[in-house]
Amino acid sequence: MRILILGAGVAGVTAAWRLLEDGHEVTVVDRHKEAASETSFANAGLIAPGHAFAWASPRAPGILLRSLFREGQPLRFRLSADPALWRWSLRFLRECTAERARANTLRKHRLCLYAQAALQEVAADTGIAYDAALGGLLYLYRSQESLDRGVANVKLLAEDGQQLEVIDRERAAELDPALEPTKDKLAGAVFCPTDESGDACVFTRELARLCAERGARFLYDTGITGLVSEGDRIEKVATDKGDLTADLYVLSLGSYSSRFEKQLGERVPVYPVKGYSVTIPVDGANNPPTRGGVDEDNLFAYVRLGERVRLTAVAEFSGYDTSHRPSDFATMLSAARDLFPSAGDYSRPQYWACLRPMTPKGAPILGRGRHRNLYYNTGHGHMGWTMACGTARITADLIAGREPELPLDGMTLESA
Ligand SMILES: Cc1cc2nc3c(=O)[nH]c(=O)nc-3n(C[C@H](O)[C@H](O)[C@H](O)COP(=O)(O)OP(=O)(O)OC[C@H]3O[C@@H](n4cnc5c(N)ncnc54)[C@H](O)[C@@H]3O)c2cc1C
Repeated sequence: MRILILGAGVAGVTAAWRLLEDGHEVTVVDRHKEAASETSFANAGLIAPGHAFAWASPRAPGILLRSLFREGQPLRFRLSADPALWRWSLRFLRECTAERARANTLRKHRLCLYAQAALQEVAADTGIAYDAALGGLLYLYRSQESLDRGVANVKLLAEDGQQLEVIDRERAAELDPALEPTKDKLAGAVFCPTDESGDACVFTRELARLCAERGARFLYDTGITGLVSEGDRIEKVATDKGDLTADLYVLSLGSYSSRFEKQLGERVPVYPVKGYSVTIPVDGANNPPTRGGVDEDNLFAYVRLGERVRLTAVAEFSGYDTSHRPSDFATMLSAARDLFPSAGDYSRPQYWACLRPMTPKGAPILGRGRHRNLYYNTGHGHMGWTMACGTARITADLIAGREPELPLDGMTLESA
């Protein structure tokens, strides 16, 4: 079959890889000059089933509300007249009951575990070097109160089979010697020995290169302007370089997936949630973190990517704006310096901001909607690097008519 994949982020490129394995003729179209130039470019790099919590929870409405009145918060909700934001927020609020939070977390966790195994398989098959660090991530808590809450939260994942250890500050510093000088600032940590990390951008670009070697066509620098349907079929994709046709289409446009919902005649509940990332070189510093993790009290993630250290933070509802100023990074940099004063050269920051393609439930949208020849593979939210190889496999299974290995309830347009 001739398959056109819309979007060359980690979701689109991993799908291309799987579909090539099934013998399809694959073309990938993207508006940038190379793959992984938007959200998959500089994310936190954590591959973290041990942190696969749904954002919608009984505490979330209060956190969102408080963020309206306080500056410098890691979560920033801004009121706007955008009807898409209101629709998305109402659906999100519906997911905030204890029962739904539990169901959404378990769904997400199972997908992340499945996807981690799929990623390891692709990594082994291809030998791609992507600054991978196996051997666990640390979730750090600065106060006893937050540690107690964190321990209560991870119980659900532990009951679902996730290996997790509650550890004291001494053990945290043993696992990551970079914490030795500052361990007294910690109340304790949760260690997930099977979580890992790696550079999603390097992985995606290398995989795109291997896809091209296997015969996939990449149409870069090509902006999609419309999806044209006839009855229950997509007829063509309009771009600024002319129309493109295929037997079947896979939609992986990240946060922009909902931009075409009017033309598709169905709601795609994906909304952009902006995040900020800063990368510094390790150069000259003698004590960078040796494994990645999250400072749970300050809600920043950190990761060691070879000779770089990356920090990411903030969930901001500000539409499609990806602009950033140095002041946007001040809070996370100050919290990071407090814990890792010698992580790297803080005077040479590379700033970046990008949009998480979030769904209200926190799971991606897979499978078909009203068109027989359009498959969704989008809405990977804050864990798309972790999930992508799993959703790629599910998408390929669905297209081949194979039964996916996971139930799709809560991950289709109908049930999202
Ligand atoms: C700050 C931050 C930290 C994160 N940390 C982690 C983490 O630690 N672990 C984890 O698992 N996940 C993490 N994520 C989430 C992860 O990065 C995303 O879920 C993932 O990158 C989404 O991939 P995607 O392919 O769906 O989207 P994208 O990478 O955005 O790809 C979509 C592609 O579609 C293209 N496109 C869009 N519109 C058009 C158009 N009209 N025409 C042509 N092309 C178009 C874009 O150019 C882009 O290349 C993080 C995200 C953020 C923002």
